[in-house]
Amino acid sequence: MTRKTIAPGAVLVINAGSSSLKYQLVDPLTEKVYADGLAERIGEATGSAIKHEAFGRKRTVEVSLPDHQAAIGTVAEMLREDGIFLVDAELAAVGHRVVHGGRSFHAPTVIDDEVRAEIERIAPLAPLHNPPNLVGIEAVSALLPDVPAVAIFDTAFFHNLPDESATYALDAETAAKYAIRRYGFHGTSHQYVSRRAAEFLGRPVEEINQIVLHLGNGASVSAVQRGQPIDTSMGMTPLEGLVMGTRTGDIDPGIAFQLARVGGMSVDEIDHLYNKQSGLKGLCGDNDFRTILERVDAGDPAAVAAYRVYLHRLRHYIGAYLIELGAVDALVFTAGVGENAAAVRADALADLQMYGITIDPVRNAIRSGEARRISTDDSSVAVLVVPTNEELAIARQSVAVVAGP
Ligand code: AMP
Repeated sequence: MTRKTIAPGAVLVINAGSSSLKYQLVDPLTEKVYADGLAERIGEATGSAIKHEAFGRKRTVEVSLPDHQAAIGTVAEMLREDGIFLVDAELAAVGHRVVHGGRSFHAPTVIDDEVRAEIERIAPLAPLHNPPNLVGIEAVSALLPDVPAVAIFDTAFFHNLPDESATYALDAETAAKYAIRRYGFHGTSHQYVSRRAAEFLGRPVEEINQIVLHLGNGASVSAVQRGQPIDTSMGMTPLEGLVMGTRTGDIDPGIAFQLARVGGMSVDEIDHLYNKQSGLKGLCGDNDFRTILERVDAGDPAAVAAYRVYLHRLRHYIGAYLIELGAVDALVFTAGVGENAAAVRADALADLQMYGITIDPVRNAIRSGEARRISTDDSSVAVLVVPTNEELAIARQSVAVVAGP
């Protein structure tokens, strides 16, 4: 395989989960994606594989992946087969998505021993997420010890949520002792999309108010006032808020007591139930929205009921954020469902003309990968679809922090 030219300054973006590792090699200036992929079932006895794409060529290799280091090693080998030599590619940075920055991190941060120790210290805030993020950091640093590693925190954008929105009405001493507050997640996406939406409208982000709806398998809404979030639906953990693919979203905290006392369930069992067995999947058996919408169209009662619960919660938040923001310039849909499911967008905003929100059904039905307006020209609130690109946002932020002020 002949060696391919990678522009100096490209960034390797890494999103490490407990048994997965998502990666993308991207040039943050030209937005060119050289390669991306997903290693799955890391550390499992069977079924481990890497789905990989480079220069438009897709392939899946089934390969034993005992740990994250093996996964990144195999990815590097696959890239070599594509003519990309990571080790001497003159990468500007490796950008790591880190889920929880706690109160310690509110900006992209170059990772050194101290930062690593701090991410570890706050890991109890996100026991399912931060430890695998750290494992990813270790594994890639071992492969690329000379490339600066940068942590991009999913919570960072929400670091300055106003106290009244960040505070749970829990005994204050207990809350302080355990760092219990609302942190918010999907921040990289909410930040990127709110800025892109402002660009699309040709207005400074500091001059407009937006409601950003990140509707994917995980889902969250944020109220962004003049570029700064004043509220968001996810809280201490990514469980709070909207009904999601497999997560409950908002739920009476007392339900956990009932499940423990009457149902005899352990904390881990309840955690699993809330995170993996609930949401749309729990309600109708499916969490892929394409399947759900097909079932809704076919009149399947369980899917229809689940869809109604989903919409009810979504509209609840839209209403709340309209009031919190007072004046709203744009409502912005993003992520897998928000970008692709015209029916969800139409149903979420049905009959809101009195709030200045009117979707144009023809514009809404158009499929496109570009930012676009789907509201009528006379809708005083612009309704937009803006594709998110967390990898590009991570790459850009990583380069910016490495370049320094
Ligand atoms: P994400 O987490 O952003 O990758 O989004 C994943 C969700 O987007 C899944 O529920 C998919 O079913 C949904 N999705 C992707 N494409 C479509 C589509 N064309 N119509 C409806 N839902 C879609």
